[in-house]
Amino acid sequence: MTTMAHFEMCPECRREYDDTSDRRFHAQPNACPVCGPQVRLLDRFGHELHAEPGDPILRTAQMLRGRAVVAIKGLGGYHLACDPFDAEAVRTLRGRKARQDKPFGLMARDLAQVEELCRVTPEEEELLSSPARPIVLLERREDVGWPPRWPRARRRSASC
Ligand SMILES: [Zn+2]
Repeated sequence: MTTMAHFEMCPECRREYDDTSDRRFHAQPNACPVCGPQVRLLDRFGHELHAEPGDPILRTAQMLRGRAVVAIKGLGGYHLACDPFDAEAVRTLRGRKARQDKPFGLMARDLAQVEELCRVTPEEEELLSSPARPIVLLERREDVGWPPRWPRARRRSASC
């Protein structure tokens, strides 16, 4: 019932999945490098980028630094990502998502990096450090080089 459904488990993973005493018993995303998903980098037409050598994850990071907007497929769907400090990339993403001023999620390495980028109250820090790690709306620091805010959409006058 997940995006892992079409992966055929290898004998070792199948044994874990079927063993009621194993912590991976009926764990739907159970997989390993032998039988599980592989990381691939595709262009916008779905063609694998074979011509460029190297690790697809490193290549994706390089593309993000080069103003690309990248779709990252995970277990629950796609994440669209870009460099949050690149005004052009953020403008492209906002345009494509028709999301003019609603905040985007920001991925950070750890709490220290979050605190470099945003103001964090003790309550927000507790949420960010909790096992649930929910998305928390934070006040951004203005002295770290964010691109200018996207202008808010103008509201139409009722008389027009
Ligand atoms: Zn396996």
